[in-house]
Amino acid sequence: MKNNFILVLNCGSSSLKFSLINPENGATLLSGLAERLATEQAIINIKYDGKKEQAEIPAPFDHQSAILSLVAHLKKLDLVACISAIGHRVVHGGEAYCHPTLVDEDVKTAIKNLARLAPLHNKANLTGIIAAEAAFPTLPQVAVFDTAFHQTMPEKAYIYGIPYALYKDHGIRRYGFHGTSHFFVAQQAAKRIDKPLEQCSFISAHLGNGCSVTAIKDGKSVDTSLGMTPLEGVMMGTRSGDIDPGIIFHLVNQLNYSTQEIDNMLNKESGLLGVSGISNDCRAIETAYIEYHNPQAALALDVFCYRIAKAIASYTASLTELDGIIFTGGIGENSNIIREKILSQLSLLNFKIDLEANLTNRFGQSGLITSDESRAAWVIATNEEWVIAEQTFQLLNQKTGI
Ligand code: ADP
Repeated sequence: MKNNFILVLNCGSSSLKFSLINPENGATLLSGLAERLATEQAIINIKYDGKKEQAEIPAPFDHQSAILSLVAHLKKLDLVACISAIGHRVVHGGEAYCHPTLVDEDVKTAIKNLARLAPLHNKANLTGIIAAEAAFPTLPQVAVFDTAFHQTMPEKAYIYGIPYALYKDHGIRRYGFHGTSHFFVAQQAAKRIDKPLEQCSFISAHLGNGCSVTAIKDGKSVDTSLGMTPLEGVMMGTRSGDIDPGIIFHLVNQLNYSTQEIDNMLNKESGLLGVSGISNDCRAIETAYIEYHNPQAALALDVFCYRIAKAIASYTASLTELDGIIFTGGIGENSNIIREKILSQLSLLNFKIDLEANLTNRFGQSGLITSDESRAAWVIATNEEWVIAEQTFQLLNQKTGI
């Protein structure tokens, strides 16, 4: 067994996703998910060699216990020796981190300080790094930031129309997220049209529980719909996306909402869930729409798709040419209904869907979904883990000359 595999860790507030990846070809040797962390029901699911295994995570049921459980499995499978480094997904890198970075004390302090901009995510990411350092004390740890790809946005795209001092003194600006995914699918689309990425312009739509649309010019992000926090932009599973900020004052002053209640409503009770009143799961809403003709489900899908189409159309202002649109994420990769609805709003930009190709390109199958006379739109399955593994490997190669 080669010893250059990268263990990729993605720590959420109550979960830990992990994969052991060959950085050269993206092949996944082992993968899995620890969930319900911080509760007594914490479990770990591991996929290896076509088999699935589930185990309970021992007390205190936290990220550290999950990582120790993972290490015990890796030892049992004799896989520890093939790991050369750990790559961590870190959500917020602020303005300082626009490249993958070897973790040291300063980087950990920066991730901790940036938690003021992404409290849930960065705290969990740092917990994962500290737990991984304890479990693998001799291995290098690399942080790959979700905001990094968007650090090429021009000032006119990232400055809000509010007093400039709030940016200068407090870092209040647009940062964007899902950068690793937008970068990966742009790379893949460039290969499909056989052009160097640096000469390509795309608009990519990452549509999962969180959703964002990015304008990519000459291979670089020039605008994106998520902002200082992952609440701005298009409508998402449970997040509202853009609303009139005046609504917040109305809720406080006229309806006596607390800031905590507004935070909860905009982040957890809005989006597809809020409009449909059914679920945040796109599949459940599509079923309600198709099988039961549920009007709230129809409305939720309409609002969702219209807002995404508007975001795509607005990004033509950031580009001088457009090689095509890319759909990715759980919804973008699987929902033919959502893709058809979005593209049907964009006929003025010469998008014409190929219905058969749109049906075929689902469930892991990537490909072109537009007709011959149309501008191109592709479904491309994202693979953030591979990017993290590849960038971790490349950084260490440069540094150590492996
Ligand atoms: P996350 O942002 O948490 O990584 P995913 O990218 O996994 O989320 O996307 C989750 C979303 O993808 C859910 O809304 C789910 O309903 C949707 N999804 C998954 N499969 C399908 C499908 N076959 N049809 C429609 N939507 C789907």
